[in-house]
Amino acid sequence: SRSYGFSLSSPDRLQFIQTEKPRTPPPSKSLVFGHTFTDHMLTIPWSSSEGWGIPKIEPYAPLSLEPSSTVLHYAQTLFEGMKAYRDEHGKVTLFRPDMNMKRMNTSAERVSLPTFDGDALIQLIKKLIHIERDWIPREPGHSLYVRPTMIGTQKFIGIAPPSEALLFVICSPVGPYYPDGFKPIALYGTTEYIRAAPGGTGAFKLGVNYAPAVMPQKKAAQMGYAQNLWLHGPEHYLTEVGTMNMFVVLRKGDSVELVTPPLDGLILPGVTRDSVLSLARGHASGTYKIPNLPEKLIVSERPITMKEVQEAEASGNLVELFGSGTAAIISPVNRIGYLGKDIHVPTGEDGMGPVSRPIWTELVGRQMGTIPSEWSVPV
Ligand code: PMP
Repeated sequence: SRSYGFSLSSPDRLQFIQTEKPRTPPPSKSLVFGHTFTDHMLTIPWSSSEGWGIPKIEPYAPLSLEPSSTVLHYAQTLFEGMKAYRDEHGKVTLFRPDMNMKRMNTSAERVSLPTFDGDALIQLIKKLIHIERDWIPREPGHSLYVRPTMIGTQKFIGIAPPSEALLFVICSPVGPYYPDGFKPIALYGTTEYIRAAPGGTGAFKLGVNYAPAVMPQKKAAQMGYAQNLWLHGPEHYLTEVGTMNMFVVLRKGDSVELVTPPLDGLILPGVTRDSVLSLARGHASGTYKIPNLPEKLIVSERPITMKEVQEAEASGNLVELFGSGTAAIISPVNRIGYLGKDIHVPTGEDGMGPVSRPIWTELVGRQMGTIPSEWSVPV
């Protein structure tokens, strides 16, 4: 195994080098997703001979890499995305960070980068967030987007597990994805390109999955669609939406069915997906009640084809369709371009539907801390 344990078990080994040029966080209103970074970053080197080295929180600055570094040639890179929230009393929390650590380790294994102790990394990330707490906007829907990353840094032209790697974490203050209320998006049911294939890397958060999706996304945009709806196989199974997981809501007699494709290796196991499923299942089984969510709810992780979506539209049983992810949380869809025709998806007057609206309210409440939950972890 390439795990050398994260001897971050001694986060007291952490070195902190404070910036000499602290900046003032920009006004929350001016934030554009992913453009602003805070004053510091966390870096932890790894080598096959020494294991994990001394973690450092240091000024945010360019990395120094040799041009022969494996990451620059063979895409030995993976990342995570999670958010820290600050409530009106100044209390800072992370949402289900253990899920991100677990996924980061499965990604590392898949590209032969070193694995690590997830709890130890959470401790270090908490220290970084604590130092940067004044960068977390307090306005509703705002947060600090945290981006853990790992790259292969061995100076070597050759395809092998790298003998050197770097784990780093940067932070970016972000505003709400939909500052002016929900805006349903149109999808292009893509039959020319794929995002993932059986046995491939679709279920891992690897850099290699993202660059090839940019060109198809541009093509979809030229045709007037916001995102690709990624399909699989001759049956055109629905898999993901852009860089989000997806849900379809169907009317089934006097019940509604919430459907999401199963984790069959083609789909990233999203933290938001898991949270939506878990909330819906809790409600459906009567463990707790989510206000305004339909009483008779069936929750299904099962394959779903474009044919089934088309038939549901034709019979008036397509209730809604939405994407889920850390950035936008829930993204309603109003139209799918598919084989030269448009499928129209109903949306409520505020853009959301009868299932997505109550689930969004519950989820955001648990993220922001207004609804107490074990998912919300104090920093
Ligand atoms: N699918 C892909 C391809 C993604 O990049 C993301 C964003 N991480 C998701 C789904 C949603 O995952 P999460 O809910 O963990 O953000």
